[in-house]
Amino acid sequence: MQDYTFHLHDEAGTLALGAALSRALVAGLSIYLHGDLGAGKTALTRALLHAAGYTGHVKSPTYTLVEPYTVNINQQLVEVMHFDLYRMGSPEEFLEAGFREHFNETNICIVEWPEKAENILPTPDINVILSVSGDGRDVKLCGATDKGNQCLARLKFAPNL
Ligand code: ADP
Ligand code: MG
Repeated sequence: MQDYTFHLHDEAGTLALGAALSRALVAGLSIYLHGDLGAGKTALTRALLHAAGYTGHVKSPTYTLVEPYTVNINQQLVEVMHFDLYRMGSPEEFLEAGFREHFNETNICIVEWPEKAENILPTPDINVILSVSGDGRDVKLCGATDKGNQCLARLKFAPNL
């Protein structure tokens, strides 16, 4: 298991990390984003989706809890499910909505506020921990499975310091 830590000096750093991640992803991955409000979880997801070819508006699915995007990952169309579980009321809500079925071999799932559904979410492949640091952000990427570690090993990212 290897961790990768970077300082994202400004928003351009977050954009660059999202783009680098989009190039390293494969279908079937799940990525959980940790960090307070304003840490940059949605900004990173938006950057990843735009780098993967999505041209529309990306905002946190605060009320719908999940938003699907069809994007291009390694010349393949892949469904990226972007969750924001901040306002999830109960585990039943998650299970009854069929959200668990989205975590499969073909989708990519990105989850903001996984802490809100701790006991019902599957183990992620990658944990991303974001925090405010000065005017920028610190980010730690942690592989949690072989698939996640392989993805991070492919990551080509050198932030501007
Ligand atoms: P979250 O989803 O974690 O609540 P958002 O992504 O909605 O946070 O908001 C993050 C805020 O921080 C946005 O205003 C964004 O412009 C800003 N931001 C993102 N990355 C950086 C960075 N590396 N340095 C400074 N500001 C950033
Ligand atoms: Mg958010």
